[in-house]
Amino acid sequence: MTNKLYIVATPIGNLEDITLRALRILKKVDLIFAEDTRVAKKLLAHFGIGTPIAKRHTRDEQKAAEEIIVELEAGKNIALISDAGTPGISDPGAFIIQKVREWGKKVRPFVKIEAVPGPSALAAAISVAGISANEFLFLGFLPHKKGRETLFKEIAASERAVVFYESPHRILKTLESLKKFSPEKKITICRELTKIYEEVIGGTAVDLLEFFEKYPEKVRGEFVVIVSNK
Ligand code: SAM
Repeated sequence: MTNKLYIVATPIGNLEDITLRALRILKKVDLIFAEDTRVAKKLLAHFGIGTPIAKRHTRDEQKAAEEIIVELEAGKNIALISDAGTPGISDPGAFIIQKVREWGKKVRPFVKIEAVPGPSALAAAISVAGISANEFLFLGFLPHKKGRETLFKEIAASERAVVFYESPHRILKTLESLKKFSPEKKITICRELTKIYEEVIGGTAVDLLEFFEKYPEKVRGEFVVIVSNK
């Protein structure tokens, strides 16, 4: 029998966004590896799913990969989830999958890695922003220090829209840099997608800095930033 590693997307806020297939897979696998076991416990409890969660969180991808391989070798079916959204997109996953795939090649056809797609803040932001983004560059999280200024220059020169994730601690700093390097570009901030305070705010960096100065309580939550193309 082929046993499987499922890469399962989970909601980015609104729990109704989980897919029927994700629920079925999370119920039927033998073990779930999660980015944070406490977050996973809450998700599973909400849906009444009793599948065991591995103690080893996936933030240590090396160790998680080793343990996942041991479990797969023992014939178990496994699901990998992150705290929210799609594993591997600015979340643990890629290294684990590479390791499992390398190992799987040796034992084929006994292991299969399957995508169970669903929510991602990236896709949700692009879909709701209403910008023309048939082509875009996704940068994940911007570096905090090294290479940051170069990246802002690249964003300024980009012929494509640029999308990245940002935290509430850095959003104002990032807008200051965009004001410096891309003062004319249109920026769209998608905040708290699928949650109660979801909103999409657009304007130049100066407009957005003024907005957050006026509503400091909105410098909170989760953000996706989209910078329009040149
Ligand atoms: N793997 C996830 C995905 O597929 O969306 C992304 C994980 S990354 C660690 C978390 C970042 O995604 C947050 O800091 C934020 O920038 C963005 N994000 C996640 N949920 C979001 C939401 N509901 N609204 C806006 N941005 C969100």
